Amino acid sequence: MSKQLILPGQTIGIIGGGQLGRMMAQAAKSMGFRIAVLDPTEDSPCGQVADYKIIAEYNDSIAVRKLAAISDVVTYEFENIDSERLKWLCEHAYVPQGSRVLELTQSRISEKRSIQEAGVEVAPYAVIESLEDLYREIEEIGYPSVLKTARGGYDGKGQLVIRSEKDLPDGAKLLQQGECVLEQWVDFEKEISVIIARNPDGEMSVFPVAENIHRDNILHQTIAPARISEAAKADAVEKAKKIAEYMQVVGVLAVEMFLTKEGDIFINELAPRPHNSGHYTIEACETSQFAQHIRAVCNWSLGSVDQLKPAVMVNILGEHQEKVVNNIKKYRSWNVHLYGKHEAKLKRKMGHITVLDESVEKVLSEMEESQIWEKMQEKIGGLQ
Ligand code: AMP
Repeated sequence: MSKQLILPGQTIGIIGGGQLGRMMAQAAKSMGFRIAVLDPTEDSPCGQVADYKIIAEYNDSIAVRKLAAISDVVTYEFENIDSERLKWLCEHAYVPQGSRVLELTQSRISEKRSIQEAGVEVAPYAVIESLEDLYREIEEIGYPSVLKTARGGYDGKGQLVIRSEKDLPDGAKLLQQGECVLEQWVDFEKEISVIIARNPDGEMSVFPVAENIHRDNILHQTIAPARISEAAKADAVEKAKKIAEYMQVVGVLAVEMFLTKEGDIFINELAPRPHNSGHYTIEACETSQFAQHIRAVCNWSLGSVDQLKPAVMVNILGEHQEKVVNNIKKYRSWNVHLYGKHEAKLKRKMGHITVLDESVEKVLSEMEESQIWEKMQEKIGGLQ
């Protein structure tokens, strides 16, 4: 694919108008670009900061044509784009990321195969197409394990933890949605992620390894740098580089990993875009993951990813927003980001807060003391 240098004043088209698109657009606008966004909603988080809005379904061919016509370069923040549309777009617009990486990561099956082909390990798994497959493969993979739909799952949706034989029949429901993968449960010590960027010239840069704490399968907190050994960090970076190089990624790739007590690393999943666990980079690093993504797709040299201070990022879900706003005056160190979403639904990502401090422990206890993120079970008696 031809490489182009995209310069300020030109227009970057973004498929998807959510918070990732918004933060990409904010970074790009501060660099002098114009932004066009394709999203089905009138007042999307990215639409609020874009110069041009195309309001239509992602797979609307007229809308995709419009985006191609208006944009000097097209990128995406939304992963479930129909691959035929994306292929068309690649032929009719400049899409330096191409369609291949997105296609491979749209299915957990091709994603895992690519990771293995890159020479990196994933947890033992099997492709499951029927209940018979499930009964057969569980013998090999063992309990506990987790059945996941190959496509379309996120934040723990489309997943079933199988603890014993009695859970196996429940697999039928997931299998109705299509092919699945059965993964061995990894008894991890930490979940970590590596955000890596690569430009069309093949230059790569890796952000500091982050440590992620999930609640109910949704990212809750990210701590960077991760509180793990230097050897584990180096190993994580090496693995992310191997994957990005093998897949010839352009732009930002997030690599989620499990780190075991023994120091083994298994890749959980990939996201070929900026990622929630990289939001800390906005304040903590010389270049944010969003600015780096823009630099990469525009074929600039990549910026420095040096971290200025340790950081803690915490997500603001629908149930936290009001309490955050009520406490906004109290905490001067909180860098509050809200995404401009109108409805604060339960578990919906509404924003995040990043705090920089030499003492991560101090920040964590301040967040706990604020009682904003107290567990929902205590509040609503396990109704979630
Ligand atoms: P995923 O959507 O695949 O990222 O899964 C959501 C969360 O479920 C992960 O962040 C882990 O906390 C947990 N999880 C998923 N798969 C596994 C696994 N094979 N072993 C242990 N925990 C898992």
